[in-house]
Amino acid sequence: MAIPTEMQRVVLAARPQGEPKLSDFRVETVPMPKPGEGEFLARTIWLSLDPYMRGRMDESKSYAAAVEIDAPMEGGTVCEVIESKHPDFKVGDFVNDRFGWQSHAVSKGEGVRILDPSLAPLSTAVGVLGMPGITAYVGLNTHGKPQKGETLVVGAATGAVGSLVGQLAKAQGLRVVGVAGGKDKCDYAVNELGFDACLDHRAATDASALRKELAAACPDGVDIYFENVGGKTFEAVLPLINVHGRIPLCGMIALYNQGALGAAAADGPNMFPKVWRTLLVNRINVRGFIITDHYDQFPQFVKDVSGLIRDDKVVYKESITEGLENAPQAFIDLLRGGNFGKQLVAVSPDPTR
Ligand code: NDP
Repeated sequence: MAIPTEMQRVVLAARPQGEPKLSDFRVETVPMPKPGEGEFLARTIWLSLDPYMRGRMDESKSYAAAVEIDAPMEGGTVCEVIESKHPDFKVGDFVNDRFGWQSHAVSKGEGVRILDPSLAPLSTAVGVLGMPGITAYVGLNTHGKPQKGETLVVGAATGAVGSLVGQLAKAQGLRVVGVAGGKDKCDYAVNELGFDACLDHRAATDASALRKELAAACPDGVDIYFENVGGKTFEAVLPLINVHGRIPLCGMIALYNQGALGAAAADGPNMFPKVWRTLLVNRINVRGFIITDHYDQFPQFVKDVSGLIRDDKVVYKESITEGLENAPQAFIDLLRGGNFGKQLVAVSPDPTR
């Protein structure tokens, strides 16, 4: 296949104030880069959209550097090598990498994983068998320390992380209660993912209404609260957590548009005394984690979860947006709960589908 002379990319045009707008992004066409010695050129098949990208749009200090203005947005990708001067990568190899919101990229191969397309569909390398999947696996097993018969609550329950957290916990004999936005997502959590119950946080008027519903769904209290969202859901769950409960602190998407990963995190109503007291008197173990610190578990995670998928013990759902130029709107929608399952952008055809 002839290699085009130009490629597309989406750059950060402005730092958002609150919710991102389309004008915070710019779609550009630029000349196709050429691989030098020890490099390869790849075309992007799948781009993953993830909540952490909102944090990268802000300048404030975080665990990773911000995307520069006029630089391509960061992101995990699944690509096909189309030209190679690298000894370890050949044309036709499928790779998982972090080439960002771009149709093509040149790489030296550092941190790039060659994929086996016979293991599972390629898109899963950025979903259930990729970064979000291992986040669920490590957050639950290493930090949640689940025990048969316990009760787990997880927010963003039908999303990339939450859907796997709940299914892995069910497989280990826990009672699983999800919190999700809307009836369709809640029905899916119960009927397809096998959760014991799922509550609609968007229908609940406030945290205390949601708490009443959660208390009814968790008659023995909550042993593990897998924290994906913060906000109203956190406020609702906190008083229900049992003595010696665990909170794997994974994310807080309800706050991301308020600059929650940076300076503005300190603003807002002061729940600090209440939260601190609850953690103390109940001896609750809160463990914040960033998944890249745990990538030594990747081989075991892929082995375990690909086996569960093959045996139909884990199912997954994807929300696919066609075309790189539509990535900004899809990302804005993701932060509003517009995705139903793992949000992907189909950038170019997947020859294995
Ligand atoms: P999802 O696929 O779950 O998509 C995001 C979902 O968040 C939306 O669909 C929406 O679901 C929910 N959401 C949005 N706004 C709110 C709100 N105000 N209150 C409650 N829920 C809301 O995303 P991921 O599974 O990829 O990520 C889930 C969480 O895990 C995020 O916080 C993310 O940052 C975090 N994460 C952390 C990692 C780490 O290393 N610590 C690694 C990967 C992810 P709904 O419609 O159900 O409300």
